[in-house]
Amino acid sequence: MDCPNKHKELEKILFHNVEVDCCPECMGMWFEKDELKLAKDEKDKQLNWLDFDIWRDKGKFKIYNIDKRCPECRIPFVQIDYDDSNVKIDFCKMCSGIWLDRGEFKQIMVYLKKKADYEILHHYTKNLAKELWEVFTGPEKLRDELGDFFMLLKLLNYKFVVQHPHINNLIDELPK
Ligand SMILES: [Zn+2]
Ligand SMILES: [Zn+2]
Repeated sequence: MDCPNKHKELEKILFHNVEVDCCPECMGMWFEKDELKLAKDEKDKQLNWLDFDIWRDKGKFKIYNIDKRCPECRIPFVQIDYDDSNVKIDFCKMCSGIWLDRGEFKQIMVYLKKKADYEILHHYTKNLAKELWEVFTGPEKLRDELGDFFMLLKLLNYKFVVQHPHINNLIDELPK
């Protein structure tokens, strides 16, 4: 699988039981739908992820056709924007995979930091990431951000994946 930004072949990041593909050049990340399911964890029951939703309001999604292509299916992604958050996600309507450019990853963290619950969740994911430290393989650069990476996994899993039916409806309405 090659980077959608036309760089090199993607490399595997393994964190806990989840495998994500990463471009060693631009540090973009590819999340397969099934991999996101694995980001669920029994320990999370104590945490109320449902109250922590950056994609709460369905009316605020905007969807565009873009030029970048899914590394797996080779069809063009749609870009999903949410309100004025600057959070953009490249989504494949065929395999439901998600591509995040480096800037998009950072933008999600910036947006989360504006939210009141960020500190609690960050504390939790950071500690858990430390516990799971030894099962991480991937670019060194990401190690510093393991807590953020972990939080992102959870967020995509618990929130974004939940929005799939709605997102799929919006995609159907796009001009062909
Ligand atoms: Zn790349
Ligand atoms: Zn795809």
